[in-house]
Amino acid sequence: AKASGKNTYAFFDEKINEKIVRKMKIQNSMKDAIKNNEFMLYYQPQYYISTGRIKGFEALLRWNSSQHGFVSPSEFIGIAETSGLIIPLGYWVLNEACSFIKRVIDMGYEDVSISVNVSVIQLMQDDFVENVNNVLRQYGLKPSNLQLEITESILMENIDFNLKRIRELRRLGVGLSLDDFGKGYSSLTYLRDLPIDILKIDKTFIDNILESNEKSCLTGNIITLAHDLGLSVVAEGVEEEEQLKYLKCYNCDMVQGYLFSKPLPR
Ligand code: C2E
Ligand code: CA
Ligand code: CA
Ligand code: CA
Repeated sequence: AKASGKNTYAFFDEKINEKIVRKMKIQNSMKDAIKNNEFMLYYQPQYYISTGRIKGFEALLRWNSSQHGFVSPSEFIGIAETSGLIIPLGYWVLNEACSFIKRVIDMGYEDVSISVNVSVIQLMQDDFVENVNNVLRQYGLKPSNLQLEITESILMENIDFNLKRIRELRRLGVGLSLDDFGKGYSSLTYLRDLPIDILKIDKTFIDNILESNEKSCLTGNIITLAHDLGLSVVAEGVEEEEQLKYLKCYNCDMVQGYLFSKPLPR
């Protein structure tokens, strides 16, 4: 029994070790990846349900690493956050995304917006608001052409400080979305105080629509609650007609998902 216990530990040690080594390798390759043009942005359209018109696009990072092949953002964003690389990478994303939406506007689409995912690590930088303002000016964009998406759970960890920064961004006039709503630490008290304009319902709640009456009811209630607070609602990860029908019924404002389009390179 002792021997097998020992083996078990050795097995886990090995697993943990492998994970750490992979993380370190990814972190190292990420350092040169911006310079080597290994990152790309894909864009996924967001539509108004009522009119079917396009609201804008969400910019989503893709990394084709020369050493590791395609690495998923759900793996590398966390590593970029702990290593601090998210700061230069985040600015690269902001710049690239603004350049994309400028081109779309120049094609004749006026009131479109680009949604950019922002890590709380970026938000905490003293010059973040100033840099956002500079990028907007550089491309001649209106603040309303930019929508920043901030993930709910991490935001709540340091809410007082983050609230201050979010108010500064609001004063600048950019749109603010609370991403992954319902997945994390949802505090309705904070939701009332947050100067955001869009709530993005997490995909799990969109999936729930197909599960059971009780579960879909919860999704409907979130939409109603958001509307009561004066927020617009985006449903993300919509894959089925049936989900769209339900969302329409609850007056959900916008949709995004494979039912309409996958994220695509420009
Ligand atoms: P997110 O912001 O919640 O983005 C939505 C994710 O759902 C994206 O995954 C998108 O490709 C995927 N998706 C969209 N529609 C559907 C659908 O109908 N079905 C399914 N199954 N999935 C759908 P992706 O691109 O892998 O990104 C994962 C996460 O990585 C994002 O979640 C976001 O938190 C983070 N991320 C991506 N790009 C950036 C970035 O530029 N900066 C930061 N800080 N985070 C980013
Ligand atoms: Ca997002
Ligand atoms: Ca999300
Ligand atoms: Ca997410």
